Amino acid sequence: MPSALADFIQTTPLCDTHEHLRKEDEYVDNGPDLLQNLFGNYVSADLVVAGAGQATVDRLLNAADPDIRACFTGVERAWQAVRHTGYGEAVRIIARELYGMEEISADGLEAALPRHAALRQPGQRLHILRERANLDHIQTDDFVRACAVDPSGPDFFFYDISWVNFVNGQPDIAAITQETGVTIRDLATLRQAMEAVFAQNAAVAIAVKSQHAYNRTLRWRERSDAEAAPVLDAYLRDPGSLSVDDRLCLGDWSLARGVELAIAHDLPFKIHTGYYAGHSRMPVDYIKPGHLCPLLAKYLDARFVLMHIGYPYGDEMVALAKHYPNVYVDFCWAWSIDPFSTGNFLRRCIHAVPSNKLFIFGGDTSWPGAALAYASQTRRWLTRALQAEVTDGLLTEVEAIALAGRYMRENQYDCFRVEAKKRAQVAR
Ligand SMILES: [Zn+2]
Repeated sequence: MPSALADFIQTTPLCDTHEHLRKEDEYVDNGPDLLQNLFGNYVSADLVVAGAGQATVDRLLNAADPDIRACFTGVERAWQAVRHTGYGEAVRIIARELYGMEEISADGLEAALPRHAALRQPGQRLHILRERANLDHIQTDDFVRACAVDPSGPDFFFYDISWVNFVNGQPDIAAITQETGVTIRDLATLRQAMEAVFAQNAAVAIAVKSQHAYNRTLRWRERSDAEAAPVLDAYLRDPGSLSVDDRLCLGDWSLARGVELAIAHDLPFKIHTGYYAGHSRMPVDYIKPGHLCPLLAKYLDARFVLMHIGYPYGDEMVALAKHYPNVYVDFCWAWSIDPFSTGNFLRRCIHAVPSNKLFIFGGDTSWPGAALAYASQTRRWLTRALQAEVTDGLLTEVEAIALAGRYMRENQYDCFRVEAKKRAQVAR
């Protein structure tokens, strides 16, 4: 019989603060095949790191290849090597929950094809996420600035305003002009265009988001208009002409304007910190959350959501969340990267960081099956971490349940004003 704590975590709707979910029509018309549904997520990087060649993994995920037996057999050795990683555990959860497969095998895959076809039907995406995964709502970064009410689930699917091109120092000028009607000639008109982006999207958007750590250092410093103006002029003349320092200058300036607009429009600002998706390219000095300190100290009225627990810089993240009232820690994707460390990180936060500042889940996936698995994985490891607190006599079960409620739902409702956003979406 499950404990009251386990039962609470299992049955409480979980807020999902970060996905890259594809839309309903894309899921139905052009969604994942069976192998993509199982392996077309972060585990593909683990398979390469375990020694499966990139070409073999590409074949696994090539929907045009009809021979699923051969596609799987090519990676089977690497799969056995990664089945116990967080990513591998999530694949095993998908296999069990969606296809009833205890062990992934070539025979089992062939037998699962009809079940997979049933999952791709209209409405299944929402059903998998809301009913089966028991998610409260989902916040998606679909990599664009525009945010619209999603007719496939108006009070369930929410979107971030993507700010990453600005912060990379590589604004997509033609697209911004097309979206806003503002012709960008100089810093003043760029600022006007940014204001227009917020005027158009902020009422529907759930947050602003930037993952510039994939392209540049997180290190930020204040840049004056006088510094940024000539850089923008050069960029408008020839986008290829900027040096790395120029891009950092324009990017830092643009991040500051985005944060100011997020404050004005009462939206949290999410920033990717820590680990990279993929393999073979991560510079660990780019991704330290502590690089953001000058920004955090300058904008005390902002709500900064630092994503992925800054993995592997957990110590730094505890210190930031403890020190800065405007910092929230998002555990999105962290449980699948390194579930054990994430559980320990949570336990350290419990005893160092105010409990209103943690968001426990985001899957960071494209497809609902993976989001379901990552949610299930989070529930298991969250239960384990909180149960350990109870077993060690650091929390009573009642206290552990109260914390779980905060981390899973209440904190997100407060920080992202979820109730108001749900009302606004449905009214439109
Ligand atoms: Zn992401």
